[in-house]
Amino acid sequence: MAELATLGRRVRHFRSRAGLTLDQLGHACDTAPSQLSLIENGKREPRLSLLESIAAAVGVSVADLLDPQAPTGRDAWEIELERAQDSPAYRELGLPRLRPSKTMPEETLRALVGLHRELDRRARQAVATPEQARRANTELRARMREMDNYLPDVELLAEEAVAAVGHSGGALTHRTVAEMAERVGLTIVHTDDLPHSARAVVDMEHGRIYIPPASIPGGHGLRSLALQAVAQAVLEHREPVDYADFLRQRLEASYYAAACLMPRPVAVAFLEEAKRARRIAIDDFRDAFGVTHEAAALRFTNLATAHLEMPLHYVRVAGDGTIQGAYENDGLPLPLDATGSTEGEVVCRFWSARRAFARTTRTTEHYQYTDTSAGTFFEATQTGIGAEEYSITVGVPYAESKWFRGRETPARERSTCPDVTCCRRPQDGLAERWHGKSWASPRVRPYLFAPLPHGTYPGVDDRELHEFLQAHAEEI
Ligand SMILES: [Zn+2]
Repeated sequence: MAELATLGRRVRHFRSRAGLTLDQLGHACDTAPSQLSLIENGKREPRLSLLESIAAAVGVSVADLLDPQAPTGRDAWEIELERAQDSPAYRELGLPRLRPSKTMPEETLRALVGLHRELDRRARQAVATPEQARRANTELRARMREMDNYLPDVELLAEEAVAAVGHSGGALTHRTVAEMAERVGLTIVHTDDLPHSARAVVDMEHGRIYIPPASIPGGHGLRSLALQAVAQAVLEHREPVDYADFLRQRLEASYYAAACLMPRPVAVAFLEEAKRARRIAIDDFRDAFGVTHEAAALRFTNLATAHLEMPLHYVRVAGDGTIQGAYENDGLPLPLDATGSTEGEVVCRFWSARRAFARTTRTTEHYQYTDTSAGTFFEATQTGIGAEEYSITVGVPYAESKWFRGRETPARERSTCPDVTCCRRPQDGLAERWHGKSWASPRVRPYLFAPLPHGTYPGVDDRELHEFLQAHAEEI
C-alpha cells in the first residue's frame, strides 16, 4: 500500500498548491469529496479517468501524480512511520498506532522513525538463538546432501574465472589470485590491523579486499580468503537478510574459492586417473593443488558423487571426538541431536576419525574398515594440529574401497553406536568401583554455531568493522 500512500500525498500536495478545497476539487472532477479524501489518505485506488480529471484540475500531468517520490521530505517521514506501524512486528507489540498529523513535531516524527528502523534492523539481524542457528545449519546440510554437495552453477563461474587468467593446472599462485580480483574490480591490500573479529574485510565502495600480511603462514589460507572475497562480487552477494542467508553465502563463497583453487576440469581429470589406477588418496589430491588436507577432502566431497559416481562421507572431529563438520550421502550413521544437528556431537570411539589419534606415527593417513549398523565403510584419516588437535576423515562404503590407496589395511573396527553398550557405557566393574567417589567438571565445549551476534556478520563486531573501513577509506 506504500504506492497508494505516496499517490494520495501527491494528490493532496498538488491540490493545496492549487488552492483547492476537497469540495472544490470534487466539483471539478464530478466526484464526491469523501471519495477524494479516501484517495488522499491512501485508502482507495483511483481509476485512471479520475486521475486524469484530478491532474487537469490541479494543473499537473498524470505522470506528476504517479511519481513514486513523496512530495516533500516531511511526507516521506510520515509515510515511513505509517508503513512501519503497519508491519506485523509492530502490530504484535499491541502498542497504539500514532497518526502523523500536521501537529506532530518534526523531531518526534524522526525519533519514531529512527526507532522503527532500528527495531527492523535488529529483527532482521536474526541470529537470535543458537537453536535457530543450528537449525539453519542443519537445513543447509540437508539441502546440500540432496545436491550431492555439488553446485554446478558455482563450478561454472569458477571455471570461467580461472580460464580468463589462463590458469590451467597445478597450484594457483597468489599473483594469479590478485589478477582474478582485479578482473572484478577489486585490489588485494595486506594489512596487519584487521578487526580482531574478522579474517578478511571487503570495501565495496573503493574496491579493496583487506587480508592479513602475506608473511603469516597458513598454506593456501590467504589465497582462499582473497577468493572468498572475490566470490562476494562474482556471486553478487548482498548483506545477508538472516542467519540462514549468511550461512548460504558463506558456503557458496568457500565453494567458489575451492573451485578456483582446484578447478573442476583438472581436478576431475586428476581424480579419474587416480580411480583408473585404483589409488585415490586425498593426500595426493592435496599435494597436486597445494592446498590443505581439509580443503582437498572437502573438494573431494563436491566432485566424488557427481563425477566419480561414488557416495561418501566426510568428518572433521576435535581431539575429544566432537564433530566440527560432517557430510554424508553414503548412509554413515552420524550422531545427531534432537534437532537433527550433528555439530558438537561425539563420534564413536571406534571410528577411524578417533582411532587415528591413537597412532604414534601420524605423518601418513590412517586407514581402516569400520563395521557399523549401516554396513562396512573404508575410511582414511589424517590428523592435524591447529589451535587444537583435529582429524579429517574421508570414507566410502566397502564396495567403493577398491578405488582407494590403503585398501589393503588389516585394521578393522566394529561400532554399534548409537547403542550405548558400544563405547559409551563404562566398562563392567569400573562403574561400581567409582560410583559416589568421583567428581569432574566438564570442559566447556566451543559450539561452532553458538551465538556471537554482534552485527550483520555473525561473530564480527560491526563497530570494529566500520571503524576499520573508515580508517582505511581515509587513506585512499
Ligand atoms: Zn561406539
